[in-house]
Amino acid sequence: MVNTQRSINLEKDQVKIGLEIHIQITALKTKLFCGCSSDYRGKEANTLVCPVCLGLPGSLPVTNKRAIDFAIMVALALNSTISPRTTFYRKNYFYVDMPKNFQISQYDKAGGVPLSIGGIISFEVNGTVKKVRIKRMQLEEDPARLSYYGTIDSSPYTLVDFNRAGVALLEIVTEPDINSPDEARLFLQKLRSIIEHLGVSNGDLQGSMRCDANISLQDGKRVEIKNITSFLEVKRALQYEIIRQKQLIRRGSTVKQETRHWDADRRLTISLRTKETESDYRYFPEPDLVPVEISQTWIEEIRSKMPELPDERKIRFVKEYGIPEYDATVITNSKALADFFEECCHLYPDAKKISNWIMTDLTRNLKDLGIEISESKIKPKHLTDMLRLIDKGEISGKIAKELLSKMISTGDSPQTIIKRENLLKIGDEAQIKKIVDEVFKEFPKAVQDAKKDPNAVNYLVGQVMNKTRGKADPEITNKLIRKMLAELE
Ligand code: ZN
Ligand code: MN
Repeated sequence: MVNTQRSINLEKDQVKIGLEIHIQITALKTKLFCGCSSDYRGKEANTLVCPVCLGLPGSLPVTNKRAIDFAIMVALALNSTISPRTTFYRKNYFYVDMPKNFQISQYDKAGGVPLSIGGIISFEVNGTVKKVRIKRMQLEEDPARLSYYGTIDSSPYTLVDFNRAGVALLEIVTEPDINSPDEARLFLQKLRSIIEHLGVSNGDLQGSMRCDANISLQDGKRVEIKNITSFLEVKRALQYEIIRQKQLIRRGSTVKQETRHWDADRRLTISLRTKETESDYRYFPEPDLVPVEISQTWIEEIRSKMPELPDERKIRFVKEYGIPEYDATVITNSKALADFFEECCHLYPDAKKISNWIMTDLTRNLKDLGIEISESKIKPKHLTDMLRLIDKGEISGKIAKELLSKMISTGDSPQTIIKRENLLKIGDEAQIKKIVDEVFKEFPKAVQDAKKDPNAVNYLVGQVMNKTRGKADPEITNKLIRKMLAELE
């Protein structure tokens, strides 16, 4: 594997990345142009279908008004200009995932008007605010889901499930304002938080948020990477592609304009086909659907019901809970994390303490496990119960760290874990005295040293902690050791 960290030189390489994000409106119960259920996950293949989403001749689509509601909401959140009159277009292509041989989508040329144009998403990169411009946002139908036997390039057949065909998608296209794989990841994190705060889509659902990326180096040809099925994979795919293109350039070869497929299992991109030009899609207006008129009244009605967005929530967290702005930024970058934090604040008075644990140990544990807070089993009450145990002096900070990682992986309450693993702090002097005696016997040299050197006392304390797995009360331990040393004189 290539060492991506070392070999990407962002300035010299002039990396330009644009993203095309497809977000399923999972808040909808039905598909974009028919009444079939859009809740296809875990359902038997090809059971949630009708003549419309199967593209049978003579069937007629009808636009789902709720889908437009959600799209308006997202457009408002991104400061995108909503088109007063928007139309649907046919994007023609011949492929197994699209039974009609065209996708009902939108188009921004030849008289086509997408749902909204422009907009901005800002997010923090190393303490400075980065802004990425949105080019446009449109509504379109999801194609069928394809399954391969093994990898896409070696599979002897393809299975098609039309349950997903016709599910409402929001397509968001950015300008190529992103300059590194890390920025791409941070951008998507912010976008996801916005979408989840709006209640439009649940990013935890497999495949609900997908991403294609185009990337060029040193103003060379653009390569498009398809099939990045989760936001977590984006950074990896982009890092791989930067290295591939750099190696081509270094060898004096040129980068071809093409579409490549991200193979998440093998962690590499493979050439799919040289890119279709737009004219290959033969876009033309969808004659079976009327244009959608979006009145100012409709927009204002949606605006009046807008939920709190991550940036507003961040400001409120600082004001209401008194946590530092940095903490608030990190926490509101994930809706699940922000919900977790806020619920903890309802259960425990010291918000800064909560935030400290979230920002350090909780985040580190989740990262080690490669999961998000929503996938972990820990409950807000578990964290606040743990904080109370520390406050009461029943557990040490060291034990609390151990406890937290166990709460995350098991979902058990701190009380249960403490009981099971016997983790309560030892505050009983007689009990600690016994252990100190043992340590004095085992480490006579350290005892001699400690008589002259107060720093060596710490070594003895450390040994007591070792023997008790950090459970001995440090104050009592210290006091006992000093007392016994004094008696030795
Ligand atoms: Zn249908
Ligand atoms: Mn699309």
